[in-house]
Amino acid sequence: MPELPEVEVTRRGLAPQLAGRVIAGVAVREPRLRWPISTEVRSLAGRTVRAVHRRGKYLLVDCGDGHLILHLGMSGSLRVLPTDTPAGKHDHFDLLLGDRLLRLRDPRRFGAVLWTARDTREHPLLAHLGVEPLTRALDGARLHALTRGRRTPIKLLLMDGRLIVGVGNIYASESLFGAGVDPRMKAHRLSLEKARLLAASIKRTLRKAIRAGGSSLRDFVGADGNPGYFQQRYWVYDRAGLPCRRCGTPIRRIVQGQRSTFFCPRCQRQATSPSPSASSRRAGARTSTRRRAARRSRARASPR
Ligand code: ZN
Repeated sequence: MPELPEVEVTRRGLAPQLAGRVIAGVAVREPRLRWPISTEVRSLAGRTVRAVHRRGKYLLVDCGDGHLILHLGMSGSLRVLPTDTPAGKHDHFDLLLGDRLLRLRDPRRFGAVLWTARDTREHPLLAHLGVEPLTRALDGARLHALTRGRRTPIKLLLMDGRLIVGVGNIYASESLFGAGVDPRMKAHRLSLEKARLLAASIKRTLRKAIRAGGSSLRDFVGADGNPGYFQQRYWVYDRAGLPCRRCGTPIRRIVQGQRSTFFCPRCQRQATSPSPSASSRRAGARTSTRRRAARRSRARASPR
């Protein structure tokens, strides 16, 4: 399923190809997507594309007096192609733009092509979306505030799009590893310090994925074939039983909310007693010095 990084890379690829172009018409070969393609979408001709924005996993094509809302669903991809490119079986929708077209291929038809003339922030699909993880709106304090009073496991909270958008299953596991947070920890137990680490880790994880996708831009802007998932090397995702890239402990797989979670039981150990005795505090100070040294040496062994 395309996740936020794939959608953002798609946006970056499409925006310069679409901006300023006049819509000559649309071609609808299969109107039965997640929702039927409306007559408003069919009568877009004459409008000029101003920009392409993103909110969560929705692409918003700004047409001046409204927005075309595109969603890739489970298996969709968007490409800019020469106008005379023959359509394949799953090429359900084209936006015609003079000498080129924007084509939606969506084999499983969970994608969406919608029109709204309203403020997109008020659209029923967009109004309840959570904070954008790559903006300044998500920082440690905001993430910490979102976890207050919530006893749900932290991993499931990260994946709740009403709180934070676009942190899918892969990126939730990766972000938690990056911050050393146990995915099973109850969200309300997240300290402010850990929330800061986790917010930074989420941004780092998503940016890394976007960078990985940047190199595949050519694959879906102009050329044939599907972009698929970005080729990435993961810290924990899909590595059950394999040694942790930091400490060598076998990575564990558990199921949370019907989805697989991967984590290192050593690097992501939950904090213990909140009020240690004086003696264990001293021992803790010694331990943390050793841990810092270990962390420095581990940092050199980061994945390529
Ligand atoms: Zn580890």
